[in-house]
Formats: sequence, C-alpha cells, structure tokens
Amino acid sequence: MSMTSIITGQALIGGRNVMGNGASFQAFDPSKKQAIEPAFHAVDAQQIDQACRLAQAAFDLFRATSDEQRAVFLDTIAQQILALGDDLIVRAMTESGLPRMRLEGERGRTVNQLKLFADLLREGSWCDARIDSALPERQPPRPDLRLRMIGLGPVAVFAASNFPLAFSVAGGDTVSAFAAGCPVVLKAHSAHPGTSELVARAIVNAVQICALPAGVFSLLTGTGNGIGQTLVGHPAIQAVGFTGSRQGGIALMKVAAARAQPIPLYAEMSSINPVFLLPQALAARAEEIASGFAASLTMGVGQFCTNPGVVLALKGEDFSRFYQRAVAVLADVPCATMLTSGIAGSYQRGVQNLAGHADISVLAKAQMEEGKGGPALFMTTGGAFLAQEALHEEMFGPASLLVECDDMDQLRQIAESLEGQLTATVQMDDGDLEQAQQLLPILERKVGRILVNGFPTGVEVATAMVHGGPFPATSDGRSSSVGTAAIQRFLRPVSYQNFPQSLLPAVLRDEPEFKIWRRRDGALTKE
Ligand code: NAP
Repeated sequence: MSMTSIITGQALIGGRNVMGNGASFQAFDPSKKQAIEPAFHAVDAQQIDQACRLAQAAFDLFRATSDEQRAVFLDTIAQQILALGDDLIVRAMTESGLPRMRLEGERGRTVNQLKLFADLLREGSWCDARIDSALPERQPPRPDLRLRMIGLGPVAVFAASNFPLAFSVAGGDTVSAFAAGCPVVLKAHSAHPGTSELVARAIVNAVQICALPAGVFSLLTGTGNGIGQTLVGHPAIQAVGFTGSRQGGIALMKVAAARAQPIPLYAEMSSINPVFLLPQALAARAEEIASGFAASLTMGVGQFCTNPGVVLALKGEDFSRFYQRAVAVLADVPCATMLTSGIAGSYQRGVQNLAGHADISVLAKAQMEEGKGGPALFMTTGGAFLAQEALHEEMFGPASLLVECDDMDQLRQIAESLEGQLTATVQMDDGDLEQAQQLLPILERKVGRILVNGFPTGVEVATAMVHGGPFPATSDGRSSSVGTAAIQRFLRPVSYQNFPQSLLPAVLRDEPEFKIWRRRDGALTKE
C-alpha cells in the first residue's frame, strides 16, 4: 500500500484530516462477513457546519475560475484517482463484494465522466450565453440584455451504495456540481467508507494542485440519518444530489422543502423499469429476448436502479416460450454476495413476500443464503397487477415480475397505471410498429429514457443521456443525473442589463476571449 492510499478513518473538512467527534463504526466485508480496519468516526453538527461554511466561503472564488481552470481540475481529479492504482480497486472489492472486473470498469467510467465534463467546459456552451442587443430607436427602446448561467452555490451530495466509484465521492453528482462551479460537501455512504476516503484524498490533492480554495470539497463520514438531515438543512447548502432509497429520498425532500429557504433536491430513488414485449417480436425472438433479459436482470446481482423489474406481454404460447427460456438461464445463475447485509435482507424479504402472495406464481426462486441474493422470477395476471399497487414496488435485486396481459388494451392500461420510471423498454419488430406508436405517448409521460430492442441496464455517460424520470423515479423529472445534462441541475440564469463591457462576465462581452456558441439576437453563432 502506497502513502497516498493509507486509510485513516478521518473525515476531510476543507482539505484537512479531521477525526469525527461522533460514534465510531467500521467498514464491513460482505463476502467474508467481517469488519474491516480502521474505525471511522461520524462527524457532529459542528463539523458539518464547518464544512458547509468553508464551501460557502469558497463559492465566489471557485465560480470565478475559468472554464479551462475547472476543466484542468476535473482532469487532475481523474489523474489522482488513477494514481491510487490497485489499492483503490482492492479496497472497493473488499467493501462492496463486487468483482474486480466490474470495479475496474467502474473506475474507467468515473474517469471518463470527469473527462467528459472537462470537454463540456472547454466547449463552453453549457453557460447558455445569450445577447439581445439594445434597440434604442424602438418604442419603447429595448435595453442591452445578456444572460448566462451560474452555479447555485454549495451542493450536498449523498453517495450511492451501489456504485462505489461512479455514483459516489467523485461520481456524476460531484462532477456536475464542480463543472457548474459549485463546491461539494459529500456525505459518504457507510457501505464503503475506505473507498470514499481514498477518492476524497484524490480530490483534495487535485484541489491543492490546482490552487483552489480548500472549501471546494469536504467529505463527511458517519452513519445515521442525522448527518444527512443536518447537511440538507444547513443554510449554506443550495442544492442536493441524492441516490438511494425512496424512503430516504422522500425524507430529505421534506427537509429541503421545510427550510427557511427551500432548495432543490435531486433524488434518484426507485424504478421498476417496465419491459414491453410486443407480439411480433415475441413470436419471432422469444428465446433470444429471454436470454438477454436474464443477463440484464442478474448483472451485478440486480443491484442497478435500471434493473428490469417488470415484464409485460400478451398471454399465450410465445410468452410461455419466453419465460421457459428465462427460467432455464436463471437456473444457472448462482447466488452472489450483495452490497450490504441490509440490502440482502430487504431483497430476501421482498422475494419471500411475493412468493407467498395469493395472486403470484413462482417461476424461479434461487435458494437464498445469508447476505446473498439469487434470481427470482414471478408471474401474475394483468388484472391482479392493475388491482394491487403493492405489486408495482421496486425489489432491489435480481427479481422480476412477469405480467400476462389479456390484450393490448390491458397492456396499455397497465402502462398508464405505472408510476414514474427511469426507463421503459420496448421489444418490437416491424410488424409491431402500430402498437409501439400507441404505447409511445404513454411512455413519454412516464419515463426518462425509452429503449427499443435493448435492455435498460447499462447507462451510457453521454450528452443525450437522460437518467431521470417523473416521481418516484426521481424527485424532479426535469433533469438527468447521468451525462452532461446533469450540470443543469446546479445552475440558474442571471441577466445583465445595460452593462458596460468592462463589467460584463467574459463570456458575454462583444469580443470574448474564446469563441463559444452564443445566442445573439435569437440566432446561434460563434461570431
Ligand atoms: P439509503 O438507505 O436511502 O441511504 C442513502 C444515503 O442517504 C445514506 O448516506 C444514508 O445515510 C442517507 N439517508 C437515508 N435515509 C435518510 C434519512 N431519512 N435522512 C437522512 N439521510 C438519510 O440507500 P442505501 O443504503 O443505498 O440502500 C437501501 C435501499 O435503497 C436499497 O435496498 C434499494 O432499495 C435502494 N437503492 C436504490 C438505488 C437507486 O439507484 N435508485 C441505489 C441504491 C439503493 P445513513 O445510511 O448514514 O443513514
């Protein structure tokens, strides 16, 4: 282990190592079922306050940096994460039970995400610069108006348990906040505190290398809802990014809304990601679709927010062929360690409840072991699914519910009955076009991403990605937590009226230093 990868169990408040004043806890190896050294300590209210005040003090300096300076900062974080080498992967494997290949892939995703946002900053159009020239001759005269987006202020980020790297300390929420010029106060997830500390050190190193104010980033350690509640309630915090349970997200939405100054909270919570098997596709490719579905369902022990939790098709021979193949493929998938004992316990309880449900048939159910999750496949009728909202609830793990619909009307009725979702998938062939066209307007209202002939797991970090959707998929369906669109969550517009050139922000001057796309008198131009 190198010097940079020594884990101390401390929080990092404005770049300083600080031992939390609260209760101690340890990371846990879910594979070996044993605690891991060293002990961590929860921060107390005064330490949270300190981190938030430092973030507030850093905000004006940080947002005054050029796009190039922040791009270099993001590139430097990526370099510092890679410099942690194998120590980071080994610690993340130990804390999460996830295999090496998955975590190496996730590190690559994290680094590429940082680079993508650095590219976004260098391209410059993120700030949505607009210029409406003065029209002094018009009656009434029009003033000179110029608009750009600025960061909201310090952002509180809650790391997700299921992506210890890509949705954690240097994950999508943190990176999009940094790109927007917002300092971040990060609540580490207690499922991987050591991994969090290592990545936090990489960020702190990057802050120092780039000579940024220390309050740009702080890492808060600890378990218990009090830390999150205090953080979201702190007056310095101006926005929140959260990935986790519906219960936790809703609790924090209430805190954000009840503040003297309410703030936006972007929570990504729960989704069952319906998969619609349209008749022609099912007739032509039932077995092939079933194999793809089973792989998507069981990838990462089903611990993805985009896991295909419900499959809808017309009852009949083709759907039978589909589920027979799915059952055969799932029979070969072993039980595997889940991220935490809490997640495994709630998955197993969910599977048990469904298995004992009067309106459910069990098609497949692995023998579960402590701390592990294995595949489970259930079936119900369209009528029962429509009548019981409890059957629409997310089961976080490799379980899915097949719904046999009487006809296409009932299938559309079910689509209409669903809550907001991150994704919907349509398996279709040319002959299904009309049915797909009828389904599409419903799905557009319900979900953030609609896929044709694929599976919902695997979320590309890209410009046109939407990882979001109406409540309860997220708390605010107008945004995305993955891809460059994520920066929009932490921005707001400011308009400058009749400003002298010398006082204008650089991007809004008549002759900007760098040519970026701007909307000048209504037309997009780089001139
Ligand atoms: P979680 O229990 O919601 O916790 C996420 C983070 O929020 C943790 O840092 C937690 O802090 C904090 N938190 C939770 N409830 C809070 C509250 N009422 N007030 C203040 N802070 C609160 O999520 P999890 O531990 O990752 O997993 C539990 C379940 O969440 C899973 O079984 C799954 O159903 C769901 N989940 C969904 C996704 C998704 O992508 N949508 C991802 C992961 C998990 P403390 O733990 O320190 O209290």
